[in-house]
Amino acid sequence: MNYEAYFKRQIEGLHREGRYRVFADLERQAGAFPRATHHRPDGTSDVTVWCSNDYLGMGQHPAVLSAMHEAIDSCGAGAGGTRNIAGTNHYHVLLEQELAALHGKEAGLLFASGYVSNWATLSTLASRMPGCVILSDELNHASMIEGIRHSRSETRIFAHNDPRDLERKLADLDPHAPKLVAFESVYSMDGDIAPIAEICDVADAHNAMTYLDEVHGVGLYGPNGGGVADREGLSHRLTVIEGTLAKAFGIVGGYITGSAALCDFVRSFASGFIFSTALPPAVAAGALASVRHLRSSSAERERHQDRVARLRMRLDQVGVAHMANPSHIVPVMVGDAALCKQISDELINRYGIYVQPINYPTVPRGTERLRITPSPQHSDADIEHLVQALSEIWSRVGLAKAA
Ligand code: PMP
Repeated sequence: MNYEAYFKRQIEGLHREGRYRVFADLERQAGAFPRATHHRPDGTSDVTVWCSNDYLGMGQHPAVLSAMHEAIDSCGAGAGGTRNIAGTNHYHVLLEQELAALHGKEAGLLFASGYVSNWATLSTLASRMPGCVILSDELNHASMIEGIRHSRSETRIFAHNDPRDLERKLADLDPHAPKLVAFESVYSMDGDIAPIAEICDVADAHNAMTYLDEVHGVGLYGPNGGGVADREGLSHRLTVIEGTLAKAFGIVGGYITGSAALCDFVRSFASGFIFSTALPPAVAAGALASVRHLRSSSAERERHQDRVARLRMRLDQVGVAHMANPSHIVPVMVGDAALCKQISDELINRYGIYVQPINYPTVPRGTERLRITPSPQHSDADIEHLVQALSEIWSRVGLAKAA
């Protein structure tokens, strides 16, 4: 077999479908979010980033940057090992306690990323509990699906955000079998929000555990940034709340929170936790500063919501259709992979606006889109520039405008 030719043929297929991924080569500018320098083969240009998951700009916050500098100066660069062998740093311990407090849980456990936390926890919980059945929302993130698959447990997929379908699926199962309902709070591509209370009611009626991915909710919702469950006073009803340190908290890393026994169980049995080097102390220190800041300050959350509302209003006024949802994610629908890429290229090349196209398999074919994420740092002028650019492009490429 000619391996090289095989790889190239597969990639050509992506090109033909218009969904070959090109990464924008960016240099973020400390303290100047959402500006970045865009490196291109023919030079550099300044761009305004409109698709970052550093939702609140905390990755550039002075308190976070100085905590990271201090931790590098005091602890050095790396953790020095896995958590079990020399890698547990005091910042990890403090951060786990802070995250547990954020969600009103007894304990927390850190992982290399949100992806790993979902994968490692779901695969461990289900595979280490004989006969466990997983009930998984049909739109769950790839990291949850991979963890569930890896567990090799019996799995039932329930219709998206549909407690009645969940109820039907649970009612079919052996009442004595252990069960785990896995779902998300804010779904990242459509920005819709789960009916958490109803899902918990159904799960409780069948004595099932609940696992909530709050990756797109933590830091952003709730009086102290504990996520959508926190906002709705439901944190205590969830067996596990999982989150990331990479989005609203602005850095990298993932975590779960839950009872002391559950976290100890995952800590003791999850290979994705045990056999992987711990996060660098400076990362834990920065995340600790970020979580502490957002627990005590609502200013970023309020300004964030204000920016989201303003962008939606202006898009409505110029007739650029966007998906209605109750969250901070503004999906502007295009419906074609090649056109989505063309619009994204035009935005960056002509207007200095960076929005990455979102194509299959991240979203279903025919629903290709620009996923726009306003931040507290986007000014009125930034919003105006984006809205005008989209309006002009929509007219040019003949995309329908609302009256
Ligand atoms: N869960 C969801 C719903 C996500 O969207 C993502 C990241 N895109 C993850 C988990 C993984 O988080 P991380 O980026 O920290 O690995």
